[in-house]
Amino acid sequence: MSAITVRTALADAAAKTDRVDAGFLLMYVLNVNRAALIAYPERVLTEPEVARYAALVSARAYGKPVAQLIGGREFYGRFFRVNEHVLIPRPETELLVEQALARVSADLLTPCALDLGTGSGAIAISLALEKSNLNVIAADISEEALLIARANAASLNATVTFIESNWFAALGAARFHLIVANPPYIAGGDAHLGLGDLRFEPTIALTDNSTDGLDSIRHIVTHAPDHLDTNGWLLIEHGFDQGAAVAALFRTRGFVDVETIRDYAGHPRIACGRWPLADTLKSTQL
Ligand code: GLN
Repeated sequence: MSAITVRTALADAAAKTDRVDAGFLLMYVLNVNRAALIAYPERVLTEPEVARYAALVSARAYGKPVAQLIGGREFYGRFFRVNEHVLIPRPETELLVEQALARVSADLLTPCALDLGTGSGAIAISLALEKSNLNVIAADISEEALLIARANAASLNATVTFIESNWFAALGAARFHLIVANPPYIAGGDAHLGLGDLRFEPTIALTDNSTDGLDSIRHIVTHAPDHLDTNGWLLIEHGFDQGAAVAALFRTRGFVDVETIRDYAGHPRIACGRWPLADTLKSTQL
């Protein structure tokens, strides 16, 4: 049998799966970057490399996300470990981090931030690393997710306090300058849940099974004022068609300076609002 080279391995894989993904997987198996793959197309793969690559390519052809196959995904310039217990960080969520950072008041010595439903910890850890005086708490209902989030914080040298909590339930009376969340927002039964990477991600991170997909967002918007400092900010990621509905929830609850940020595809994606009051309006139900 003739030797399998980078060139032939890639050509063979491209017949089974996406060409770009095939490249990523080979870079992972050979532990090289894209430049090395291009520069040395005649490099011969060892037998174990051929076997590992074949296994990864067929798992990818079956639909398994690249991030789960290579163990992680880059987010805000850093590599985050993921597994099947956490949502794979998305580029549009980087906007949430960017917008949150832009809203941390420079006047505060040690502002506190809360990330609800932290998953891999991507948002919380990015915030902590980008703003060293920011005291970051990250909550998740899933013990398995918290294991990954803690491991990511440790390997990226980030100081984040993790807490197992169903949204605000375990937070007592704590208040924050900033509350951020990328909650499940896909409507129950939505066809997207059966497509692409979503099939392999935790359902709990994608949908709360509400008919409009907004139950979790409604809960967070309703209760966030009990946990926000005066002039604190709430930022929530939402679905491409939920911009007006989420902005209305913010306004009805009493948030001001409500803004909707569009993602790279031009879809309304992040709702931001400031809580202007010193005392919480007593539980306005939305
Ligand atoms: N943005 C994800 C998707 O539609 C969903 C993430 C979420 O529900 N928070 O692929």
